[in-house]
Parts: sequence; C-alpha cells; structure tokens
Amino acid sequence: MILVMKENTSHNQADALIEKLAWMNLQGILTEENGRYLIAIVSGISSDTDLKQFLAIPFIDKILPLTQKYKLAGREIKKERSVINIHGKCIGGGTLMVMAGPCTIESEEQIHKTASLVAASGATVLRGGAFKPRTSPYDFQGLGEIGLKYMQAAAKNHQLLSVSEVMDTKDIDLVAEYVDILQIGARNMQNFSLLKQIGKAGKPILLKRGLSATYLDFLMAAEYILQTGNPNVILCERGIRTFETHARNTLDIAAVPILHELSHLPVIIDPSHGTGIRSIVPPMAYAALAAGADGIMVEVHPEPDEAISDAKQTISPKMFAEMMEVLRAIGQVVNIQVE
Ligand code: PEP
Ligand code: MN
Repeated sequence: MILVMKENTSHNQADALIEKLAWMNLQGILTEENGRYLIAIVSGISSDTDLKQFLAIPFIDKILPLTQKYKLAGREIKKERSVINIHGKCIGGGTLMVMAGPCTIESEEQIHKTASLVAASGATVLRGGAFKPRTSPYDFQGLGEIGLKYMQAAAKNHQLLSVSEVMDTKDIDLVAEYVDILQIGARNMQNFSLLKQIGKAGKPILLKRGLSATYLDFLMAAEYILQTGNPNVILCERGIRTFETHARNTLDIAAVPILHELSHLPVIIDPSHGTGIRSIVPPMAYAALAAGADGIMVEVHPEPDEAISDAKQTISPKMFAEMMEVLRAIGQVVNIQVE
C-alpha cells in the first residue's frame, strides 16, 4: 500500500506520520516523486487492516496499491528513474558513471598511478578491493585497512569518488570510513544479514548480481537494502554462470533494459568480471552504453599482466583511454553524456 501525501506536506510531517505508523506496527518507508512525498507501507498490513482509517489522516491525499514483490525497487512506488547524487556526481541522470581501477589494491604506488591515469581519461570513480572474495583461501586476500587508506588518498588527489567491497558485517563501518560507495560482491548478493546491515551505513550501495541470480532474486536483494531506509542502491550486472565455458561468465546485456523496465534504480555493467577476457572488455562496455547503462565498472592496472588478481580481464590505461574515446562517440548517439 502507498500513502500519497497531500502536495504541501512537509518532510517533518511525513516523518511524524511514519512514527505514528510504527506505533501501529506498520513499517513505512518515505519516498519522493515530483516533489510529493509518498509512504510505502512495506510490512504490517493484513487483510483485516481497515484502510479507511488512513484516509482520515489529514496529510493523506489517496491510497494506492503496492502489489509488486519488490515494493521499493519496483516501478509502482516510483515512476521516474532514480538519480543518485554522490558528492555532486550523479548516477542515473543521463551521464555514464565510469568506475575504473585495479581488481585489488596492491600498493600505494599502484593505486596512485592508476588513479592518475584513469582520472586523466575521464573516470569518475576509483575502484579497488581491500577485502577480496578469492576462490582459494591461499590466494592474496587484500591489504585491508591500509589499502583503503591508500585508495582514499589516491581518489582525493584526483577528485575521484571511490568504491570498495565489504564482505563482512564487522567491516562495514571501517570501509565506510574510507570510501564513498560500498560494494556488495556477487558472492554476497544473498548474504541477507550483510544486506540488512549495510544499508544503515548511510552510503550508496553498489549491489552486484549473484552468479546464478534471477532478476527477481536480484531485485529482492536490493529490497533488503532499500527496506533499511537507504534509497541509494546501484544495480550491477557482472555476468552469470551458464553452460558456456569460453568466457568466465555470460554477460547479460539485456539486464540493462529489463532492470530499467522493472525498477527505477540505476543499472551498471561490469564487462571485466562479465567476460574475464581483456580484449572483450571494450566491446562489451560499448554494448552496455548502447543498451542504456547508467555506468560501467572496469578493471584497469598500470601493468595489467602483473596484476595480482584478475590479470586476464584487466585492461591497460592505454586501452582504457581508447575505450573512453569510443564511448564518447556512442554516448552522442544514444544521448548519454560520457565525461
Ligand atoms: C569485484 O568487483 O572486485 C568483484 C570481486 O566482483 P564480483 O563480486 O562481481 O565477482
Ligand atoms: Mn576482480
């Protein structure tokens, strides 16, 4: 159920109503559309709830049904696409947000060099893992906090935003201290305790699609974060497991228009993990932009062959610069700005 507030209702009045609903054991989440507040009642309604009582509340204009499973991620609650403003840089508003950087933060020098090179070619966000989800426990697991410190300084030096993965609830506050966007990796897409906690960190969340997740699974995972009251979720398609074995994963480009139809959330593509093949990364980035993606996430390393992890899918700064040129040309055709 959606409570549509009267046009001149203030934020405080809407908040007061949400508190009142909580006393009635109803959970209300505030959203806004075209300058008007809406409250989605996401839990507590049963078949014998008397709906008329809500119409008696002075600030409520009308009641609309909320029938989709993904109540907050779906289009019923929000007809317009969400635009997430991250320290003045927007994702979802007709500009391609390019996130680039190494798979793993390896050293101070490596992350500074990468930041300088990707910033020069038009990246907006520096990526890099400090807590790595490695298939083998014997592989390098990431630098942890010191890596985050290096990345924070590198991003700041080049006016870049930053994104890094959180793998464990105990690390949420630590990672949030150093980066602008918190990433949930594919392997943790259905780690429900992590999803329930991470939304409360007050930072935008980049949620990667699980290796075998359907769109419904994916949107329900986003719903866990949105239900904490954090509206800033970015969906990332990063390839799924199929019968095909040539590429690391099968990159589902159709996820972009499909998720845009189903949800108001921004959708980005990760062609690096999506293919696992360096030469295929630029063409898949072009396909992502042509399909209307709101961003891309690409692994770049000053010496790609030397990268500690994911070397085979990591592109060089030169390849990245050339790719950005082509993206700018495609952006003009599809009316998406590429910096
Ligand atoms: C990553 O982006 O660093 C990563 C590990 O990706 P994924 O979770 O998609 O495998
Ligand atoms: Mn990687």
